Amino acid sequence: MPQKITMTTPLVELDGDEMTRVLWPLVKEKLILPFVDLKTEYYDLGIEERDRTDDQVTIDAARAIMQYGVGVKNATITPNADRVKEYGLKKQWKSPNGTIRAMLDGTVFRKPIMVNNIRPAVRSWEKPIVVGRHAYGDVYKNAEIFAEHGGKLEIVVTARDGKVTRETVMDVEGPAILQGVHNTVASIESFARACFEYALDQQIDCWFATKDTISKIYDQRFKDIFQEIFAAEYRERFTAAGIEFFYTLIDDVVARMMKTRGGILWACKNYDGDVMSDMVASAFGSLAMMSSVLVSPHGYFEYEAAHGTVQRHYYKHLKGEKTSTNPVALIYAWTGALRKRAELDGLPELIAFAGTLEQTIIECIEQGYMTGDLALICEPKAIKVLDSMEFLDELAARVAAKLA
Ligand code: NAP
Ligand code: MG
Repeated sequence: MPQKITMTTPLVELDGDEMTRVLWPLVKEKLILPFVDLKTEYYDLGIEERDRTDDQVTIDAARAIMQYGVGVKNATITPNADRVKEYGLKKQWKSPNGTIRAMLDGTVFRKPIMVNNIRPAVRSWEKPIVVGRHAYGDVYKNAEIFAEHGGKLEIVVTARDGKVTRETVMDVEGPAILQGVHNTVASIESFARACFEYALDQQIDCWFATKDTISKIYDQRFKDIFQEIFAAEYRERFTAAGIEFFYTLIDDVVARMMKTRGGILWACKNYDGDVMSDMVASAFGSLAMMSSVLVSPHGYFEYEAAHGTVQRHYYKHLKGEKTSTNPVALIYAWTGALRKRAELDGLPELIAFAGTLEQTIIECIEQGYMTGDLALICEPKAIKVLDSMEFLDELAARVAAKLA
């Protein structure tokens, strides 16, 4: 066995819940620890530990990412009323992803992992379409009123100096609904920079769209900020890299996206990104083949899988049944984090290892060895359908052979 690859700075490791918590240590044990002298600082974001620490562990983990720069996160339960009962929780703790995102102030980029035997539902897509979702504001931080008797519906701003600005939305008879949404210039600016940096890093074009023809102040401001920051800070770097920034209307971009070959970063406003990332993921094949990274304007990175804790599979696992949970996106969270750590620390061997592990996964699936979720959609038919453990063992044997 060759010498293990050394690391200099620890990765911040955030463990999670249910089926993904079952798979997490196996991914490490079978695919990483035999080859890498792994350094991590471990935080247990499992629901019991979050409950025991009054969610302090989530805050500590986010602070550790701010200290070290790179984190890798497992999927976690966001508790609802059922979960409070199931685990006897003190309260419905907030979404850990929401807490971490608020502290790191980041943009989430979701990228499909492509293999040549799973064809995207859209025939022209040959390369990944990455969805970059603005993760602050709009309808996700709104105020709403049900005006039972209608009336004059208004929006009001009271400035710090007391100056009041008022705008009538509509004067209506009868019951009506009203919604107030906002965003901040600072957040939109950091969203724009995160997208341009990501496009440069991946050497892909960046497309952005809003509805500025209708929303002449709100969406227009998004458009202007992107164009101003691009012109002032990025135009030359994009030209040098041979990539483009393209702005159009949201309905136009949806139509055009269906005709492209892919290989694009699609920068989306918060709601557009919420909806379109699920469409793009399912059109590329499977949630289990979707990687995700949170990029902060302050230079912090957090890698994870796009899917959740795969609750249904976990209950089968508890009953002793085998599951077909696909660990690919979880493994990519690790390779993404290790590669970024290696880039920051100047560790070419570790960069190469991340590439080898990813390449091994792609080859394994393309040669017909895969979990059940992929076997349902692959063409030609799978040669061997493996359960989660068998698939990890198959990958482990292949990586060991490659690195021998
Ligand atoms: P989920 O974990 O994404 O799973 C939904 C369904 O998608 C599964 O039942 C399974 O379909 C399929 N699936 C997802 N990942 C898969 C994989 N790796 N391999 C094979 N199939 C996969 O969503 P959920 O079960 O609705 O949510 C469970 C918990 O996850 C919730 O408590 C939620 O709060 C949490 N969640 C966390 C995150 C995060 O931490 N980033 C994100 C989303 C949800 P079949 O059942 O048809 O096989
Ligand atoms: Mg969604």
